[in-house]
Amino acid sequence: MDIKEIEQFLRIHGIRPSHHRIRVYHYLMEKRNHPSVDVIYQELVREIPTLSKTTVYSTLELFLEKGVVSLITIDENERRYDADTSLHGHFRCNTCGRIFDVRLNTGIGDLNGMDDFEISESHIYFKGLCPECLKKSTS
Ligand SMILES: [Zn+2]
Ligand SMILES: [Zn+2]
Repeated sequence: MDIKEIEQFLRIHGIRPSHHRIRVYHYLMEKRNHPSVDVIYQELVREIPTLSKTTVYSTLELFLEKGVVSLITIDENERRYDADTSLHGHFRCNTCGRIFDVRLNTGIGDLNGMDDFEISESHIYFKGLCPECLKKSTS
């Protein structure tokens, strides 16, 4: 997605595409690293000195409200954000703290006994050691 496409995408979702909002969304799309507010702020403030942490936070909250990002609460102490809103799970490495996407083979249609419910959020979390940290811990 280039800047023009992001602008259009935000507009379609009822979000006024300000420069800061475009940059935050672009960061999420490009990095796909499930960042926290702090991480996004620290990365972007180098290029956008006028950016504040409050702006990043309120931008992400707006994105959440409009459904263009999803919230990951796998880390109890930190809100993490994901521009990929399709149904997928997350794996958090206990050692390096990185969060990886987990592709699921089962769709949400496979849930038993949930037909009469409306699901607004789903979180599928796994924790453990990533391959890199596992290698380090055994060598
Ligand atoms: Zn790791
Ligand atoms: Zn994800």
